[in-house]
Amino acid sequence: MKKDIFILIQFIHVYCRYKHIEREKTDFSYHSLEMKKQVRLCEECSDLAVYSINRRIRCPMAVKPACKKCSIKCYAQEYREKIKKVMKFSGMYFIRRGRIDYLFKYFFR
Ligand code: SF4
Ligand SMILES: [Zn+2]
Repeated sequence: MKKDIFILIQFIHVYCRYKHIEREKTDFSYHSLEMKKQVRLCEECSDLAVYSINRRIRCPMAVKPACKKCSIKCYAQEYREKIKKVMKFSGMYFIRRGRIDYLFKYFFR
């Protein structure tokens, strides 16, 4: 789960860095989560990160499927649309940089 959360933050960070260039950003933190590398996010992306981490932590599936294949679909529509955009953009970003290990299975599994 920790790895999922770490990569989730990386995905949102890349999206925010390229899509929200003009926005003011602050260091992202989440409760007791020790950040391997500090990332700066805009307010909207910080909110999305907290929401998505909470969803991941509270995911009731014993073996987590891709969220898009999940029967529960716990994301609220607004956040679902946002995280889909993030996954699409940052997924391509990491593919272009050969970070296949970053092709994390959150939505694509
Ligand atoms: S949508 Fe389904 S798989 Fe994804 S976090 Fe929610 S419950 Fe878990
Ligand atoms: Zn942002």
